[in-house]
Amino acid sequence: MKQQVYKMIDEMKDSIISLGNELYKHPELGFKEFKSKEIIVKELAKHDITIDKEYFETGFEVSLGNGNGPVIGLIAELDAIKTAGHPYADKDTHAAHTCGHSLQSTIMCGVIEALKQSNIMENVNGKVKVFFTPAEEFCDLEYRKELVKEGKIQKLSGKENMLLNHCFDDCDILLSTHVMGESEYTYSVNSTLAGFCYKKITFVGKAAHAAVIPHLGVNALNCFTLFQSAVGMLRETFVDEDKVRIHGMVTKGGDTVNSIPHEVVYECYVRSVNNDTILKLNKQLDITAKSCAEALNGSVVIENIPGYLPLIQDKKVNEIVNNAVLEFTTKDKVHYNEISMAAGDVGDICIFKPVIQLGFGGTRGRVHGTTFEVYDDEKAYIEPTKVVASTVIELLTHPATVKDIVDSYKPMMTMDEYKQYLDGREEIIR
Ligand SMILES: [Zn+2]
Repeated sequence: MKQQVYKMIDEMKDSIISLGNELYKHPELGFKEFKSKEIIVKELAKHDITIDKEYFETGFEVSLGNGNGPVIGLIAELDAIKTAGHPYADKDTHAAHTCGHSLQSTIMCGVIEALKQSNIMENVNGKVKVFFTPAEEFCDLEYRKELVKEGKIQKLSGKENMLLNHCFDDCDILLSTHVMGESEYTYSVNSTLAGFCYKKITFVGKAAHAAVIPHLGVNALNCFTLFQSAVGMLRETFVDEDKVRIHGMVTKGGDTVNSIPHEVVYECYVRSVNNDTILKLNKQLDITAKSCAEALNGSVVIENIPGYLPLIQDKKVNEIVNNAVLEFTTKDKVHYNEISMAAGDVGDICIFKPVIQLGFGGTRGRVHGTTFEVYDDEKAYIEPTKVVASTVIELLTHPATVKDIVDSYKPMMTMDEYKQYLDGREEIIR
């Protein structure tokens, strides 16, 4: 069966790569992936695969198979990220596929099309669903807050909304992929991902003529600078194993150069592989920001939004993925059990379902940077398509294995607890 699908994937090679190129050249930010959706829907229609359900305007799912066996969910992220200066960045929005999500959509389209074309699903019980998920990158938040206000979404990322809407409920196992970026390895199996909290800290001062009456002003930029220094000094308290990152940007530095800056806005992520550390440090930064602002007669308004939870992949599923990977490469070319500092909303799925994220190669240059590019179509598109297809076939033809995986998986939260987690950590502190 697998050989039959591999052959089909090889036959479809040109159309898979051309879909990849087309998506790569039409990057869109989260919840705005209208063109990407159109391209994918058009491509799937060539194989008589049509939309089953739609979510939040740009997200959707398609499926193949019957309801008499396991349900395997495949995740393909749709969105791009702002990367000004990338050769294929959108001229207006600066969106570019520098996180390689267009490759994920291409791979999952290839999988479902090859399964369909080779008629394999007619001989197995079970279902494959592909979820084209919007808005994985946690950015462009003002636009998304408007969508929340309009009632179109509840939370700011695609999969958070999909979880809250029970989209993955009937799946037994979920498989996802992600580019590794430039690496000495060909695949990454069973990597963890970090989690994070998002903070928007507004330092509030008082405007005054910067040269004539600076003594009557309160310099919000100085408040921020003191805070930034304090965060630097906090670093010696970070535990190495927690792999803490605090990274941010000033999105407003003042209004006019001849006045004391009265408002400075700093947005950042507090990121770690340890969720308790994220929560603790998030509180610590509230205190640091408030204290530093007050030390210079200013004040702060802090907006906290929980980001993603750390990803822990399902080991049993990864044993099957690993067997598939080793059909195409050798063990020394596989990065096992990496502790990655990347984060993704796939982390939130692992709270409820056995899920994996296979890292694949074929790209080079800096991820999220101007030099990111696909350089090996075989490694970037064709091989990972075969690995995912092989895993799907293995799972669908071994329902007892799927049952064992599902039975030994323990959810980490109930849906109510998840809602409470998300809602409870959304706050504005003054
Ligand atoms: Zn990504």
